Amino acid sequence: TEKRAGQLEKIKRMEKEHGTVGAVAVDKNGNICAATSTGGMTNKKWGRVGDAPIIGAGTYANNNTCGFSGTGHGEFYIRTAAAHDVSALMEYKGLSVVEATQAVMDKIGDMGATGGMIALDKYGNIAMPFNSAGMFRGYKKEGENGVVKIFGDE
Ligand code: ASP
Repeated sequence: TEKRAGQLEKIKRMEKEHGTVGAVAVDKNGNICAATSTGGMTNKKWGRVGDAPIIGAGTYANNNTCGFSGTGHGEFYIRTAAAHDVSALMEYKGLSVVEATQAVMDKIGDMGATGGMIALDKYGNIAMPFNSAGMFRGYKKEGENGVVKIFGDE
């Protein structure tokens, strides 16, 4: 019916506006967690599973390395095991969270994907690289004001 079609359109619009939401956090004991929620890619095929629910692809947390949540062309995050790749670069190569995320962001970008990622380590160091025009992002550290950004070089 027209009413139901209208409701569907409204929900589709909301999904577009609200896209992917990722969060990473560390508590005072150094316990790290990560979460990613997404509506997937626009016009995706029925039954597609993106990277968000796949641990090690779009979402990952390891107290020894980092928490990670990604957004963008999920197929590339799955193919590179992006989230785990960041963690492995930190664990085995000793890279910082900033260096490790940038390395994986560059790798995914070179493969032709667009996206971004947020990550933090157990010390609260934060990295939020992206190769899209902008990425809504923010962080809050204890005792400090929250920070919110959209574009690069802010
Ligand atoms: N990464 C998500 C997916 O591929 C989409 C997104 O973050 O925009 O399903």
